Amino acid sequence: MIELKKDAKYIKGVGPNRIKQLNKLGIYTLEDVITYYPRGYENRGVKKNITELSDGEEALIEASCVSKMSEIKTRKNLSIYKLVVRDETATCTLTWFNSPFLKNRFVIGERYKFFGKVKRKINQIEIMTPIFDEKNSNKNTGRIIPIYPSINNLSQNILRKIIENALLEVNELPETIPEYIIKKYKLMPRKEAIKQIHFPESFDQYNKARYRLVFEELLTMQLALLTFKSNYDRNREGIQFDKEVSMSEIIDKLPFTLTKAQTRVLQEIEQDMESNKMMNRLLQGDVGSGKTAVAMVSAYKAAKSGYQVAVMVPTAILAKQHYENFKKILNQFNIECDLLVSETPKKQKSEILEKLKNGQTDVIVGTHALLQENVEFNKLGLVVTDEQHRFGVRQRGKIVAKGKNINVLVMSATPIPRTLALILYGDLDISIIDELPPNRQKIDTFAVTPSKEERVNNFIKTQIDEGRQCYIVCPLVEESEEINAKSVLKMAEKYKNETFKEYRVEYIHGKLNKKDKDIIMENFKNGKIDILISTTVIEVGVDVPNATIMVIENAERFGLATLHQLRGRVGRGKYKSYCILKYKGNSQNTRERMKIMVETNDGFKISEKDLELRGSGEFFGTKQHGIPEFKIANLFQDIEILKSIQSLAIQIINEDENLQKKENEILKNNITSKFKERIEI
Ligand code: ADP
Ligand code: MG
Repeated sequence: MIELKKDAKYIKGVGPNRIKQLNKLGIYTLEDVITYYPRGYENRGVKKNITELSDGEEALIEASCVSKMSEIKTRKNLSIYKLVVRDETATCTLTWFNSPFLKNRFVIGERYKFFGKVKRKINQIEIMTPIFDEKNSNKNTGRIIPIYPSINNLSQNILRKIIENALLEVNELPETIPEYIIKKYKLMPRKEAIKQIHFPESFDQYNKARYRLVFEELLTMQLALLTFKSNYDRNREGIQFDKEVSMSEIIDKLPFTLTKAQTRVLQEIEQDMESNKMMNRLLQGDVGSGKTAVAMVSAYKAAKSGYQVAVMVPTAILAKQHYENFKKILNQFNIECDLLVSETPKKQKSEILEKLKNGQTDVIVGTHALLQENVEFNKLGLVVTDEQHRFGVRQRGKIVAKGKNINVLVMSATPIPRTLALILYGDLDISIIDELPPNRQKIDTFAVTPSKEERVNNFIKTQIDEGRQCYIVCPLVEESEEINAKSVLKMAEKYKNETFKEYRVEYIHGKLNKKDKDIIMENFKNGKIDILISTTVIEVGVDVPNATIMVIENAERFGLATLHQLRGRVGRGKYKSYCILKYKGNSQNTRERMKIMVETNDGFKISEKDLELRGSGEFFGTKQHGIPEFKIANLFQDIEILKSIQSLAIQIINEDENLQKKENEILKNNITSKFKERIEI
């Protein structure tokens, strides 16, 4: 039995320095090493004749040395090495820079393989800094070479060598899919798949290996979701709220007319609430589509039926905002609202807890603080979680456990395509608000490089002079040696004292204490601050209609969903609003992502694009939806596999609800080890 959990530092080729670098990539154990999958491949397997080479391509040739290597020294202390080689069709020149060790590396008359980028002019062919092998070796050339996601000090060659060594240590690899499934779906065995995914013998082998690994990953996820679902079965009896309580009473008191979509969604919710089945519903809607009002009306229905309501949100800032909104309307109906966040002072907290327990409080709005054990309800009937992507599946379960047969409304801030939602949230019914309130203006979005800084700043000044306010979001709280990005503290210092010294500049971030945060948000709301510099703590929910500019520093560092959320903080009032994405770097991916943001304001479209662009669904699959990261599956590319796996998973759970059969034991183990943080079976 090999020790997969063995520290990676014992692998051949990994020293004390390299282990640190590996750790930075999230690699700690032997298992981590062998499941560190390539992000792409380079096919160095197809040999070409020199005459066939075309300009700009990367190609493999096999040729013999014609003459000794020449060395040219340039003025700038640069040495250029040139070697002329020949095959059956032509000669070409190979060029390297500053590589004295190559000088006597090649023997005249011997054949070698060279792989590199071709420069071809009319009568001259050159290959730049080629990698090479002896004629009979396949080490660097002559095969499909994996390319790994890497960092500065860890070259592809080193990483490849480490992984190769690690694979050599792995004689056997326990299977993670039961034999009967492997047979039925003709899957490649795990050990073979891991080997082939790193060093595929052919692209056909690669495809089979990838299919197998994707299959495993998606099956585990689906089974985990279904197991969770069967824990609170949708057919279980639920509370039946009072049919006599009419939602229209409160709808009439709202400061606006509901949109058609809001009305439709509320009908769906009302039906659930009045039936004797448990409601377990996901409400999807773009930023600003008015989900809060839907939550409030639902809370009214529950409270007026004699039940308590818990509204759980991810940040204290948002909790306070919701609490105030709810109170304003619900108090008119003698519905008692309270606020509970972890910063609530002790004395006040115990009063609130007491009121909750004896049933005096009807609606409690709060953060994770609501999950604590000492929070007890008298008669909890409805749980609403807002911005659900910030909560794990397990947290949802925890709050639901505080009552009996509770109805659940989950509000998502990151809309995703319906087909995908159906699969990812197999345990939920779905309602969609596909319409924004009337008179919303389009937010104009610009993506700019640092050279436009001054123009951006001038633009901010004009807007503030007209009475508007501005958000500036940075990725970091304080400067960091590791990450080269803007920080709230540094920006605040500069903007307060220099760039915007004639304006009122403040900053806010998660590490400030609650009181300071409250004061700052209050002041921003009341127009006493012109520019608010912030981390993504303001990402969710914050509603200040007078703010019209959202500037995002290092926009390249944020996911599209986050950018879209942040942009949703402006354009909430009657004024024309703007979002300015300041980005660095010129990668294709960054430019494409910026382009999408500039072109569309539609959250559903953005999430679809995001899915398409993100390699392994790193962000999409994970934090946003409470599902662990995928190492290899890509929900966009693999949607068909996902569909077929979903039916397989349903079949397995139907036959063996808690995965207790011997044949399913390994599936159960997979789920437990991967999802232990989130799901209790
Ligand atoms: P989100 O869906 O992003 O949570 P909110 O519930 O915060 O959106 O609503 C955004 C803004 O739109 C709020 O200021 C809210 O008062 C307003 N709003 C919601 N519904 C309507 C409506 N039907 N007509 C006009 N304004 C609305
Ligand atoms: Mg909201």
